[in-house]
Amino acid sequence: RRHEGAKKEKKERGRELNLPKTRALYYEDPYLREFDATVIWAEGKEIVLDRTAFYPEGGGQPPDHGKIIANGEEYRVEDVQKYNDVIVHTLDREGIASGMVVHGIIDWERRERLMRIHTAEHILLAACRKVLGKHVWQHGTQKDVYESRFDIAHYKPITQKEIKEIEKEAFRIITSNIPVEARFMNRAEAEKKYGFVLYEGGIPPGREIRVVKIGNEDVEACGGTHVRSTGEIGILKILRTERIQDGVSRIIYTAGMSALEHVQREEDILREATEKLRVQPDKLNAAVEKFFQEWKSYRKELERLKKYEIEGIKNKLIEKAKGGKIAEAVELGMKDMLLLSRELSSSLHSGVLIGKDGDIVVFGENAATLAKEIAKAMNGKAGGSKSFAQGKGDPNRIKEGLNKARELMGLA
Ligand SMILES: [Zn+2]
Repeated sequence: RRHEGAKKEKKERGRELNLPKTRALYYEDPYLREFDATVIWAEGKEIVLDRTAFYPEGGGQPPDHGKIIANGEEYRVEDVQKYNDVIVHTLDREGIASGMVVHGIIDWERRERLMRIHTAEHILLAACRKVLGKHVWQHGTQKDVYESRFDIAHYKPITQKEIKEIEKEAFRIITSNIPVEARFMNRAEAEKKYGFVLYEGGIPPGREIRVVKIGNEDVEACGGTHVRSTGEIGILKILRTERIQDGVSRIIYTAGMSALEHVQREEDILREATEKLRVQPDKLNAAVEKFFQEWKSYRKELERLKKYEIEGIKNKLIEKAKGGKIAEAVELGMKDMLLLSRELSSSLHSGVLIGKDGDIVVFGENAATLAKEIAKAMNGKAGGSKSFAQGKGDPNRIKEGLNKARELMGLA
């Protein structure tokens, strides 16, 4: 499995680096936005510090971004990865050397969104279990600043009614403002206390595991960053659900400011639609239905008129025909030309129609051969059978095509 391979590679890189464990300040204080540290290793754009508040990618949570200031110069932190216990920061450029004392600043807007979304995920699982049943099991997860994915094993698709219930249950947990407690525990002790429900998000390595507990709602082994209490999440909003495989549903959700922005965007769409249709929001559905029905009846009417028009063209062409043959240019597209040729073929022996866009339709004797010659005269291509053929040529060479057709059909 690719995931396992990546894990192994990471471990190997950690061994190769052979550096002391980086002190993870984001665990000591998840709200730490700035810190000082010493560079203990540097190579190209990569640096390792003795301590860092930058969260490295892990457990489906993306890495922190931000800035590192060294000797008055500002470097952008573009990626943060953990190799064993060594945290490597990737900067936008080279220039930092081992031994330097630097100042780190976390992109707090991004981190805060991610902390809310991450904590919301624990709540989402708890709410899913409450609404869908205890059998629900986390299958996979990928968190992001604006939209996050949460895959659960559940035997049937999640209904719209269930989605609303899950959101309401999440709202109850959020507004109960329950403290979120995270602490490192001895693995055996944690398992004994909480059971294997701890390993919802995967089984972390090591004898010590980090247990994140939200009152009596959820307990998981988790290495991510969380808010202090559920109230800080604000809103948890499910955006949509998808069935990704048999027995696995994907819930796409967001939380906090990103959720508020989502609701605002949806409101904008609603407002624009109601303004265009000049109705109140509660009348929008009825108005859309009315417009749709009208559009359907107009389309039917249009088709009726089109038939009428084609009937007229047909009669004119039959009048023009010589010896049951016709070669004419028509102000029609391919679809209508096909209709027209079908009508004509019941009255005429053979015919050539060239449309306004350079479309060619030929019916009757030697259709394919004739169509190819006409297309050639129009710098185009054609094909078909002995009795019917179609093609396309340059719309600027309709005259040349017609002349060729009339010449070959003896109509010139
Ligand atoms: Zn977590």
